[in-house]
Amino acid sequence: MSMKQAIADSVRLGSRMLIGDSWRASSNSIEIPVYDPATGAELARIPQATESDVDDAVKAARAALVHPSWRESLPITRERLLLKLADLVEAHGEELAGIETLNQGKLLGVATGIDVASSVQWLRYMAGWATKIEGSSLDVSFSFPPGTKYKAITKKQPVGVVAAIVPWNFPMLMAVWKIAPALACGCTVVLKPAEETPLSALRLAELVLEAGFPPGVLNVITGDGATGAALVRHAGVNKVTFTGSTEVGRLIGAQCGSDIRRVALELGGKSPVIVLDDCDANLAIQGASAAIFTNHGQVCTAGSRLYVHKKQFDKVVGGIGDIAKNMVLGSGFDPRTQMGPMVSERHKQRVLGLIATGEKEGAELVAGGTVSTSEGFFVQPTVFAHTSDAPLTLLREEVFGPVLVARPFDDIADVLRQANDSEYGLAASVWTSDISKALRISDGLEAGTVWINTHNVVDPNVPFGGFKASGIGREHGRSAIDAYTENKSVCIAY
Ligand code: NAP
Ligand code: MG
Repeated sequence: MSMKQAIADSVRLGSRMLIGDSWRASSNSIEIPVYDPATGAELARIPQATESDVDDAVKAARAALVHPSWRESLPITRERLLLKLADLVEAHGEELAGIETLNQGKLLGVATGIDVASSVQWLRYMAGWATKIEGSSLDVSFSFPPGTKYKAITKKQPVGVVAAIVPWNFPMLMAVWKIAPALACGCTVVLKPAEETPLSALRLAELVLEAGFPPGVLNVITGDGATGAALVRHAGVNKVTFTGSTEVGRLIGAQCGSDIRRVALELGGKSPVIVLDDCDANLAIQGASAAIFTNHGQVCTAGSRLYVHKKQFDKVVGGIGDIAKNMVLGSGFDPRTQMGPMVSERHKQRVLGLIATGEKEGAELVAGGTVSTSEGFFVQPTVFAHTSDAPLTLLREEVFGPVLVARPFDDIADVLRQANDSEYGLAASVWTSDISKALRISDGLEAGTVWINTHNVVDPNVPFGGFKASGIGREHGRSAIDAYTENKSVCIAY
């Protein structure tokens, strides 16, 4: 049922984008095809927004800021609308999960249990923040002319028009991570989903209007990187919030630096999973497999480097290899499927190329490899062991696919050195029953998030973001409210 509905939706949702209150095609009528990655079949065609469409969307967002003045709307109004939107996303959960599975290729269970459920959770959590934004009252030492008293207060005001640019791995959830706090703070948004996976964002935009948000508060423009670049350099945008590759993040950061535009970057990762000698081998095998294979490795925090104490190395790596060899690949709608396809043919070729490089550079193939199917964009879950010190591209470059490299280590100093030897610093996990060792390792890891005896746990109340080339800024919790507001100081003489 949900697959049929998703296919019908995809045809309806393609071909138009939301600017202000109007659903429209691109001003030059150019369209981009959108595919089902499990079959390679074309699902819909979406507008390629031009520079003038981007301009219209930013103008619509600017207009909505002041009329009917979204930025001065009552906090309780914003809370109520976000709660209503959460209810609508929940009520349409089956349909939204179907769209995500059809367009992205992910397992329906993941689309339902993570993409949709977390979107609802984030909307409700951020709805609560709308009524809890506060400033402070500050004592002032300055006193001139002598005897004059001063008092300062601070006030958080919405940053203004937010350009939100998101990737294709959790299409709706990544959009909600940005839209929910931005709207809670009184900002308006122009959202650009990834060209591969725009459908859930377009359905979400329909629900935003149905919830009763004023038109222009959320605009969705579809297109490719050129559309994103036009949005980033638009003078009417006050803040850019981006999730995607480090390569594109560098371009966006440079543009925003030169324009002095606020920017937040959530970028790539090469996250280490560290298994100490005391860890139960079965727990490590299950945990490390889930860390790399969830969402087919297309997770920014995927545990793609595995460091196992040499006493446990063969057992743990062999166990993960067995899981990989036995995984059932197929459509995300089939309940027997354990791993779906890569999001696109281009991404599949990139992942296969990196696997081939690993073989060429001398890593030992434990499972998987470069065999792929002709139909759909599938690659085999792949595990390498690399016990020599020869340089290996797979230890440095983000694959964003189901490819794991395992290395042995001797002691804590050795594993910390190896784990931190990366340009990235998004996340890491440590597996041990010795909490003191876990905390010492966590102190030394250069990563925005460290998990202990778990991996990929993300919560709306817990700050999330990268060290080093994994990004700038933090999402979620109080950090998100800081990210979408300007702090204004008001000084009063009395
Ligand atoms: P990407 O190529 O960086 O694209 C991300 C978004 O940016 C897409 O909407 C893309 O549009 C757009 N874009 C491309 N070029 C642009 C430009 N010059 N200016 C403005 N926008 C531009 O990344 P992806 O291939 O979609 O996603 C995979 C990457 O995202 C991985 O490296 C992964 O680590 C990272 N990621 C990070 C996080 C995190 O939280 N840190 C989360 C998820 C993913 P088009 O695709 O339509 O061209
Ligand atoms: Mg892309």
